[in-house]
Amino acid sequence: MKVQNLIVGSGLSGAVLARKIAEEKKEKVLIIDRRNHIGGNVYDYKDQETNITIHKYGPHVFHTSIKEVWDFLSRFTKWHYFYLKPLAFIDGFYTNLPFNINSIYKIFPNSLASSLEKKLIEIYGYNIKVPILKLKENKDSDINFVANYIYEKVFKNYTLKQWGLKPEEIDPNVTARVPIYISRDNGYFQDIYQGIPQDGYTKMIENIVNHPLIKVQLNTDFKDVKKNIKYEKLFYTGAIDEFFDYELGELPYRSLEFDIRVENKEFFQESAVVNYPNNYDFTRICEHKYFLDEKSNSTIISIEYPKNFQIGINERYYPINNLDNQNKYMSYLKMANNLHNVHFLGRLGDYKYYDMDKAVDRVLKFKI
Ligand code: FAD
Ligand code: UDP
Repeated sequence: MKVQNLIVGSGLSGAVLARKIAEEKKEKVLIIDRRNHIGGNVYDYKDQETNITIHKYGPHVFHTSIKEVWDFLSRFTKWHYFYLKPLAFIDGFYTNLPFNINSIYKIFPNSLASSLEKKLIEIYGYNIKVPILKLKENKDSDINFVANYIYEKVFKNYTLKQWGLKPEEIDPNVTARVPIYISRDNGYFQDIYQGIPQDGYTKMIENIVNHPLIKVQLNTDFKDVKKNIKYEKLFYTGAIDEFFDYELGELPYRSLEFDIRVENKEFFQESAVVNYPNNYDFTRICEHKYFLDEKSNSTIISIEYPKNFQIGINERYYPINNLDNQNKYMSYLKMANNLHNVHFLGRLGDYKYYDMDKAVDRVLKFKI
């Protein structure tokens, strides 16, 4: 078989790239994916019994402040405006996450909460985000008390479960994704644009690839067909180490196992996402009906258990960013740069902890 442009992976990155090539270069594109569905990790589907839309690979809330990304995706979906306001189960309370002024008042006695609030605002200001590892560096005794409390109760055990490491042993940008927010805003994100595709992520991806020049072929692994497909250009959104047959060793990832359950009650919990930093072996429970405000007498939850990534056993979800892994990735990238007309993109191709908007932005800015 001969194709002009071959894209490996029908996730958000692969789909957006295909559309860009079809529209801007007016060239034919074949997308292959080894899964039996499009969408990669943003794939969702309707549960037949309850009609609830399930995010198969974990809760996905779209958020961005990049207008070009929002405008691009808005061509392919209407949005259900949605603000994620997760809770964390801490010391018997379901409290607000990111940990903010409201969390302080929920957990501590009023007099203590009020003095901590005053001190935090005095030192940092209002509406300010402070990563936990930065807050912990503060020598003031009140700040030190609250920082250690938050570190122990919110970050330490969750991070141990999620990464198998302590917060100070992982890339500081990771815990900084959920800063302490000196504010009354309970939103997980403060981006200008936030929402869920009204008809689901899968439908949005379907619309993106719905173009006369784009063809999608599922259940097709690149390694099984590479000898039989001739391409002018290859765009690979799978894992870069796998592409090179692990010649320089594996790039490590964290994975997850989702225990998806139907619960015979209208609601299971008070928010779409509830984190359990200190209790149980799982990290969080997601209740799917919240995302699109779907009505049903029963409800569906998924319980997330962090796992090591193992080739052939589970999926790659989180690249593990540290110096060794970054160096290994750079060596793979060097090998990639020596190839003619082969490009790597996406969370796996770039080995980067991209949120959806950053994955799309990367593709929109990519010179084809
Ligand atoms: P992927 O979705 O991983 O797509 C890669 C595709 O390539 C897959 O379909 C795979 O099957 C295919 N593939 C790989 N190798 C081969 C091969 N050899 N042959 C054929 N096909 C192959 N982002 C947010 O902005 N908000 C959120 O709330 C959010 N929540 C998340 C929750 C979880 C649990 C996870 C893991 C991620 C979350 N993200 C979130 C990030 C989001 O999932 C990614 O940014 C996005 O999915 C990246 O898309 P991609 O196309 O780069 O990669
Ligand atoms: N984190 C934590 N406790 C929480 C939530 C997050 O310790 O209750 C830390 C943890 O290390 C996690 C990181 O912050 O991996 C980023 O969290 P985020 O919710 O952004 O992760 P994702 O949604 O990508 O799984």
